[in-house]
Amino acid sequence: MIKFYNTLHRKVEEFTSIKDKEIRLYTCGPTVYDYAHIGNFRAYLFEDLMRRYLSFMGYKITHVMNITDIDDKTIRKSIEEKKTLTDFTKKYVEAFFEDIKTLNILPAHHYPKATEFIPQMIEMIQVLVDKGYGYTTDDGSVFFKISNFPDYGKLANLNPDEMRTGSRIESDEYEKAEGRDFVLWKSRKPEDGEVYWDSPWGEGRPGWHIECSAMSTHYLGTHFDIHCGGVDNIFPHHENEIAQSCAATGDKFVNYWIHNEHLLVDNKKMSKSLNNFHTLRDLLNKGYSPETIRYTLISTLYRQKLNFTFEKLEASQKAINRLRELKRRLETVSSNSGIDLQNECKTVIENIMKILGDDLNISGALGVLFTWVGDVFGLLDQNKVSSTGAQNGLELLDKIDTILGVINTQSHDIDSSIEVLIAKRETARKEKDWVLADEIRNQLLEIGIILEDTPDGPIWKKK
Ligand code: AMP
Ligand code: ZN
Repeated sequence: MIKFYNTLHRKVEEFTSIKDKEIRLYTCGPTVYDYAHIGNFRAYLFEDLMRRYLSFMGYKITHVMNITDIDDKTIRKSIEEKKTLTDFTKKYVEAFFEDIKTLNILPAHHYPKATEFIPQMIEMIQVLVDKGYGYTTDDGSVFFKISNFPDYGKLANLNPDEMRTGSRIESDEYEKAEGRDFVLWKSRKPEDGEVYWDSPWGEGRPGWHIECSAMSTHYLGTHFDIHCGGVDNIFPHHENEIAQSCAATGDKFVNYWIHNEHLLVDNKKMSKSLNNFHTLRDLLNKGYSPETIRYTLISTLYRQKLNFTFEKLEASQKAINRLRELKRRLETVSSNSGIDLQNECKTVIENIMKILGDDLNISGALGVLFTWVGDVFGLLDQNKVSSTGAQNGLELLDKIDTILGVINTQSHDIDSSIEVLIAKRETARKEKDWVLADEIRNQLLEIGIILEDTPDGPIWKKK
């Protein structure tokens, strides 16, 4: 049984897909006005972990992630830089694709851009107007009338009495207390410069929320399985998506709303506005590997806040090194006698998958994995593993890595040669051959690798 916390009902629920063994998944993508920070990547990595787990469990997944290239921020910044919207956003769209590849995030099957879906948005707004959910204002904007949609507020758990209905809000992002009629189509304003499209209501541009309703319906239909995003998306964005989609199509829209908690810095949300963010590029330039960043961001339950620290990156690097070291050791086993690990590996993988099925309990799953890793190191030290056992162990690591995505990665080849050198140095140190140990340390330094000896053994990072 697979269970997820469904924000819509505020409880952990059994997951069942609409079609047998098929999942249609929509995840809110980046707003391309700057480089994404690693807080954003916590969202995309949680979604990646979920997707990889569900694939492992045999589901065929269709994944759509939108690219928000029209909103208040992209328009404002493109004008500041005196560029067309497309020219301005292009750089950040490309950077985003590079970053997700670096982080070993599986690509979505479709990446629709808002600018490419204006006709579909206009069509949906027209349906809302025709059905009495949308109304136009004198300046040619269109708003969603939330008092006509009784279910409004169910996702974000809003109290309808406290919502200021009857007044209107035009900006893309706003606070819960301001829940009220929101904009579907914004009439052309001087501050939008040349960013406008023709519509039945005159020149203008879509609001942010309608983008996701139109694009998800286009690719996934009027009723699909899972919709994800960070908790900051619950209100107003997802609440408004539900209102628009359900009102326009009369269908259920989404069965499971799954939201990740934030990545924090000093207990505050990592965000551009607080200027407390790290981009992926910043951390890579500091010498941290993509796998280290990936592991740090996936290894805490998605529903828990995660405080970012450099110590966490160091700990992640150690964990990955340990998995890779085990892989290396298993690859060298050539004994005909010893334990074949058949039953152990079967039980461990079953346990891990079962634990992950409980709302993606990654810490529990990693706990089981590392207990097994410790046991196998113990057996290897006593030469008790047969080559069949080693093969079974390697298969387990490969299986688990289809979900974790940190062992067998592009940088692995470089990393394993570094690890071989480190292992040689460790042997030299044990044998008190300080000259050789120092030689190897210098050799590593020359290729930009800094070694640090800790009570748990050496760790390394790139300069
Ligand atoms: P944006 O580009 O601001 O639309 O955000 C893209 C995704 O990142 C959304 O799903 C946000 O909820 C998520 N997000 C933004 N900041 C954080 C953070 N500090 N921690 C986790 N997720 C975040
Ligand atoms: Zn969205």
